[in-house]
Amino acid sequence: MWRGVARRVLRRGGAGSHRAASGAAVAQLRRRLESELEDIRGAGTWKSERVIASRQGPHVQLAGGGGGILNFCANNYLGLSSHPEVIRAAVEALEKFGAGLSSVRFICGTQSIHKDLEEKITRFHHREDAILYASCFDANAGIFETLLTAEDAVLSDELNHASIVDGIRLCKANKYRYKHVDMQDLEAKLQDAQRYRLRLVATDGAFSMDGDIAPLREMCQLAQKYDALVFIDDCHGTGFLGPNGRGTDELLGVMDKVTIVNSTLGKALGGAAGGYTTGPKPLIDLLRQRSRPYLFSNSLPPPVVACASKALDLLMESNAIAQSMTAKTQRFRSKMTAAGFTISGKDHPICPVMLGDARLAAVMAEDMLKRGIYVIGFSYPVVPKGKARIRVQISAVHSNEDIDRCVEAFTEVGRKHGALP
Ligand code: PLP
Repeated sequence: MWRGVARRVLRRGGAGSHRAASGAAVAQLRRRLESELEDIRGAGTWKSERVIASRQGPHVQLAGGGGGILNFCANNYLGLSSHPEVIRAAVEALEKFGAGLSSVRFICGTQSIHKDLEEKITRFHHREDAILYASCFDANAGIFETLLTAEDAVLSDELNHASIVDGIRLCKANKYRYKHVDMQDLEAKLQDAQRYRLRLVATDGAFSMDGDIAPLREMCQLAQKYDALVFIDDCHGTGFLGPNGRGTDELLGVMDKVTIVNSTLGKALGGAAGGYTTGPKPLIDLLRQRSRPYLFSNSLPPPVVACASKALDLLMESNAIAQSMTAKTQRFRSKMTAAGFTISGKDHPICPVMLGDARLAAVMAEDMLKRGIYVIGFSYPVVPKGKARIRVQISAVHSNEDIDRCVEAFTEVGRKHGALP
């Protein structure tokens, strides 16, 4: 019977017409995608990727011959991405533990090094327990849905990172968005949220576009007053903010008041990849049972685990690396301000050079590269209209000469394009 049906389909050109139909669908899809891509180009918001042909560091080689470029746009705050001991630890872990686990954690994907790293993260942050993820994006995707239900409320800064926004979207809690670092607005929203079972205030520790820091002291006071919990995403604080580099909560003296910290292993802590949540033990236990990006995604590869583990060893041995970045940041900020530029934020190695005009930011960044300095211009929609900037990121491994060369190039390029008198 099936053979008869197949013959009839073939006689009518059935299989061929399926092919023709799917060909038409693909052609339609291509047209739609190409028009969308054209819109992005037309809006001037196309993001192109420069190809680096060397290790990450203060000096990089660009593919196609651009050698000896001074790099001021990585999140390599402590310069650990290419630290010899970090690299050696990764090579040794590769030899001993292999390339990867081919498994999620709860099936057969947990090695002794994963447990060791979780224990180190817990100690580093002075918390009760920690859980690893493939990225902080995943940690943010997993936390809110696991912790909050429709009986609860989450209050989020309007400029929080996209991964917090997406994580919150996935949960059923009642959602409030308070104005950026505005504690009056947060208080009003906390008052409204009193009718819910649990209130969670969620914020970036340091905001990556402006280099400003969440007012955690005031936030923790409000949390106490309104019986709320505080969560921070400290991707741009872990490893270097505070006297011992523990992060924004250490900097502002509230380590015992911030209940949950999510952070990344892909920036200051070796720069390979990975993220985590650290906080109360029952929360971490529950995340291991329920958090979807943890349960349904592969374990972190051993060399990646080893990079972060070594980075944490280095930071727990001494605070010298964390401290060295602070002095370089101050040098850059004060010299640029003296030259006449406006630098957003305060004391943070993210130093946004505020220019306003999107074209000006783009042409100045291009001209900086011609002078051997790699920086990136940001404009709408990444930052608000009229607030275009070039974001400079300082690393502990920049020398004073590197910083001075960057300031000189900015001054020349700023004068050329009318950003400076
Ligand atoms: N949260 C913040 C504030 C970030 O800046 C980033 C990375 O850009 C992430 C989360 C995501 O971190 P990861 O690269 O580990 O996914």
